[in-house]
Amino acid sequence: MSLFKPLETSDEENKSVSQEGDVEKVKCLIVGSGPAGYTAGIYAARANLSPVLYEGLQPGGQLTTTNDVENFPGYPEGVTGPIMMEDLKKQAQRYGTDTRWGIVTDVDLSGSVHKVTVDDKKTIEADTVIIATGATAKYLGLESEQKYMGSGVSACATCDGFFYKDKVVAVVGGGDTAAEEATYLAGLCKKVYLIVRRDVLRASKVMQKRVMENQKIEILWKHQTESLFGDGVVEGAHLVKNKGEANEEKVDIKIDGFFLAIGHTPNSAPFSKFVDTDETGYIKTIPGTSKTNVHGVFACGDVQDHVYRQAVTAAGTGCMAAIDAERYLSEQE
Ligand code: NDP
Repeated sequence: MSLFKPLETSDEENKSVSQEGDVEKVKCLIVGSGPAGYTAGIYAARANLSPVLYEGLQPGGQLTTTNDVENFPGYPEGVTGPIMMEDLKKQAQRYGTDTRWGIVTDVDLSGSVHKVTVDDKKTIEADTVIIATGATAKYLGLESEQKYMGSGVSACATCDGFFYKDKVVAVVGGGDTAAEEATYLAGLCKKVYLIVRRDVLRASKVMQKRVMENQKIEILWKHQTESLFGDGVVEGAHLVKNKGEANEEKVDIKIDGFFLAIGHTPNSAPFSKFVDTDETGYIKTIPGTSKTNVHGVFACGDVQDHVYRQAVTAAGTGCMAAIDAERYLSEQE
């Protein structure tokens, strides 16, 4: 059963597309509603592509779980994530982007017309498809993680680190993201614990060196997080060292913030059956463009970017995707 409201499309909404039975033909289909998707909508609508945008499982994307956004240019006083996404949505709609509830459940990108199934029932035939489905941060799956979400728990140091200026925080993970986030936080915070489950870091040598040489970072080797505690906000974490070994011991740390950096999962399914991805599932684009290996299919935002992952970079690549789609359609004509 679908999690979404049934599609409510009026004649007015569909004036720019043609319909035959339950098949709808569109020039430009955008999948995803974070900064990348909405920005693609703004540009595609202004280029007369009459874009249809499906919002997906989390309308507004990852930013809707961020309290304050202070690093998006143009908001000198900052803005909350949900308000910023609502503004972007309104801006896309103002120029004619048709935003809808629904998730893409299947695709067939084998032909020149791309077939996309929404909510297992509706088929869209699109001349161009812009994939802006984002990525989902991985969490440990602890109950207390959910409890303190937005009240001390974060999966983005660049977004939320500033709120922990001169405080004590912990970062979980041993990869490049964890090393990078721990180093970034060490520039703001009084102390950073890096909680690593093994006795080695997976991060690149250069990042490892940076972490090891930073006096503010203390690596807790072979530690795992059992739970978080605090009165309304995170005040500490219960850890266990050497779990399952004879010398297993419980360790508590006092912290103000708990940052997850154990990887992201790009939301590239079900497109990855046709579109090339790297070994971790990120969609590959031709460098300097948003083009995928499939003609007429473009990717933008976090689903194709494991390095920057910022709202502003996602918006920038959303703009690129709309321009690439418009040029592709012009060439076809
Ligand atoms: P990775 O998959 O590389 O690392 C994840 C880390 O989290 C590992 O150390 C892993 O431990 C740990 N981890 C996973 N699950 C758990 C768990 N349940 N409990 C505790 N720890 C856990 O993800 P990253 O996000 O760090 O990097 C993804 C890709 O992006 C990599 O290819 C990386 O090189 C790249 N990247 C590049 C950057 C750059 O070039 N500037 C910056 C950031 C990322 P274990 O090692 O034991 O498996």
